[in-house]
Amino acid sequence: MRRPLVAGNWKMHGTRASVAELINGLRRQVLPADVEVAVFPSCLHIVQVLEGLADRVAEVGAQDCAADPAQGALTGEVAASQLQDAGCTLVLVGHSERRLLLGETDADVVRKFAAAQSCGLIPLLCVGETLEQRESGKTLEVVGAQLASVVDVLGIDVFARAVVAYEPVWAIGSGLTASPEQAQQVHAAIRAQLAAHSAEVACTVRILYGGSVKAANAAELFGMPDIDGGLVGGASLNADEFGAICRAAGS
Ligand code: PEP
Repeated sequence: MRRPLVAGNWKMHGTRASVAELINGLRRQVLPADVEVAVFPSCLHIVQVLEGLADRVAEVGAQDCAADPAQGALTGEVAASQLQDAGCTLVLVGHSERRLLLGETDADVVRKFAAAQSCGLIPLLCVGETLEQRESGKTLEVVGAQLASVVDVLGIDVFARAVVAYEPVWAIGSGLTASPEQAQQVHAAIRAQLAAHSAEVACTVRILYGGSVKAANAAELFGMPDIDGGLVGGASLNADEFGAICRAAGS
């Protein structure tokens, strides 16, 4: 039985004041005990959120980490070891905004995935196709290749300590959501690809859906057999909306 996970990606949003409000809003939510909840604030606000959620209402993760796990001379980067030291437990790797806008390659993503795990963090690997790739029938090929880049280099067992998020690029921040059936098809393909290497790992790994998830569509998406929760961007900036999404993932 996979425990659902709902993760809020706050992206490059927030001031000390708005983050404090969001923390208070989250603390007021009634969150289901059978759902794991995590938030990913900007690096600048991680410590504030860790302190504000010190009693572990939610796990706290980072939105990225350096490819090298150790501290060192690399201006502007944050090492996975520093994130772990601060109290983070998770880190996003390969978000499409980083792949497409910042030129992050599959090889970079693999290194970040490995760096995270080497410091005891759970990497949350984001994969997904663009609209053009979907319309040319390449969705499963693109997502499969992104996933294979990690499996081929690091092996299948690393997925026993990782989470996958399927995030169609065309659905991120666009208000367009994959239908539950469209999402399920890709989630099932991801699980089948992992199962070809290890049935046990495939059966236990959580695969989240991301792309304009909101309270109004969450229950339908989370009701699909291979969707184990959500990675939520815009809607996670509203504590009441995010709380409702978390409740939709509960039994
Ligand atoms: C995201 O950026 O991971 C995301 C899913 O964003 P949104 O929910 O705003 O589409």
